[in-house]
Formats: sequence, structure tokens, C-alpha cells
Amino acid sequence: YDDRDGMIWLDGDLVPWRDANVHILTHALHYASSVFEGERAYNGRIFKSREHSKRLRTSAQMIDFEIPWTVDEIEAAKAQVLASSGLRDAYVRAVAWRGAGPDMGVASARNPVRMAVAAWEWGAYYGDAKMRGAKLDLAKWRRPDPATAPSQAKAAGLYMICTMSKHAAEAKGCSDAMMLDYRGYVAEATGANIFFVKDGEVHTPKPDCFLNGITRQTVLGLLEARGIKVHERHIEPSELEDFQQCWLTGTAAEVTPVGQIGDYTFEVGELTRSISEEYEQLVRA
Ligand code: PMP
Repeated sequence: YDDRDGMIWLDGDLVPWRDANVHILTHALHYASSVFEGERAYNGRIFKSREHSKRLRTSAQMIDFEIPWTVDEIEAAKAQVLASSGLRDAYVRAVAWRGAGPDMGVASARNPVRMAVAAWEWGAYYGDAKMRGAKLDLAKWRRPDPATAPSQAKAAGLYMICTMSKHAAEAKGCSDAMMLDYRGYVAEATGANIFFVKDGEVHTPKPDCFLNGITRQTVLGLLEARGIKVHERHIEPSELEDFQQCWLTGTAAEVTPVGQIGDYTFEVGELTRSISEEYEQLVRA
């Protein structure tokens, strides 16, 4: 992963992949003062690129630091990395963090804010689950109360529970875990939002304590254009029994059908298939 060719944008310059390192006393490493974006380029163009750049800046502000680059500058950095990679289809990772500096404790106002952008090839996030439906575990960890952490920030600190949940799921032979929120309502997967279908209508958790994903919003637009009724609401886990179809949305996941969550099973139905295909066409349009 580190000993390879390629260039990474780091604080304004393209540097060789191997040399894109940080100091061990980086504040973010100790205190999670880091925000990031996951983006996908299709045919050489990043889908919803500006929205991702804006979210990166907003996420940083939510966890109390300012990225010293404008949206236009972030756009230029991503374009530079993508061009240097020679990739047409790529996953693009932008990350900004509090670096090493005079502040070695929790406070870090005097440390520099740093930023990097890398791009690499990343195929289907859930492998062949795109065809047969992903198998999900039920996570034991819950999404926190928005009074505990800024849930709309794509901040590294919020991913600790996601990594633990994903590891536990993989140990049971599942692709991912479905997490509940702090109240016990259905929330999302560890890196993707969740949708359900019941009798031709769509039900999806209200994003009041987890990321309102860019893909989620795109898919809501597709459903609206088709005139499909969508219920954004609090969903009890016991309702899983009543749903016929389920899918996940995310930049990496795209639209991935879900075949099973715990003991509940779902069909990879017509609506799931067609929304997944429509999303694939849209990102390349
Ligand atoms: N929830 C979590 C926890 C995520 O990591 C992601 C991926 N960024 C999403 C939802 C989906 O967000 P998006 O569609 O903006 O990629």
C-alpha cells in the first residue's frame, strides 16, 4: 500500500506516493482531529465533486478547524491527482487533519492543518454482493446522539464504531453491519445509508444522527422523479420483517442490494435492480 508508484497531493504539491508520510506526533493520530471524503471518478470525472469538496470543508468546521484551501483549490488538487494517476475510473480520497506542532495535548490550535488527496482503483465495495445481495450482521455498537458528536461531519472519530462493527460482521461471514442509533432505531451500515421497500413504497431512516449521504440524496431524487412514495422516518428494527427489499447507498457502495440482515431476508427485487442501474447510468452521464 505504501511502497508503490504514483503521486499524492500533499499540502499543495504532488509528492511521490512513498514519501507521503506524517510525523508520529500528528495530532489527528492521537485525538482523531481528521475529516475525509470518499469520492468516485467515472470516465475521468468525479461524480458530485464540488459537493464532496464542500462537505470536506464543512466537516472540518464542525470539528473545529478550518481547511486552508478553498473549494476551487480542493477541486484543482483532486483534478491534478486524477490526471497524474492516469485512471479514468478511480476512488478519490481527500483527507484533512491537525498535524504535529507545539500542541501535544488535546488542544491543538497552534498545530498546522494539513491536507492530502490520493486516488486509486477500487472495484465494487461489496464484491459480488451487487448481484445476489449483501449479507449484513446486526451491529452491537450504536450511532451516537448528535449531542455527543457532530453526526453530519465525515470525521475520523465517528468511524471507530464503524470499524469495530465491520470487523465483527466480517468475522461472522457478513459483508457489513447494520447499526442502530442511540435510541434503538435503524440507522445505517458502517459506510453506507440504507433503504427498504414495502409494497412498492420506500422507507429510509431519517438522517438525524448519521451522515445524510450524497448518494442517499441522489437516490432520493431518482425515486422522486419516478413518483415513488418515500417515507423518511424512524424505523424500528422489528419492522425489518415487513420489508421485501433492501439496498445500501454510498459513494463506494454505489447502490448495493441487501439479501439478508441478521435473520431477516430480502429479495433483490425489480425496484432495487432498476435504481442500481439508473444510478450507474447517472454517474457516467
Ligand atoms: N454513512 C457513512 C458512515 C459513510 O461512511 C458513508 C460514505 N461516505 C455514507 C453514509 C454514504 O455517504 P456518501 O453517499 O456521501 O458517500
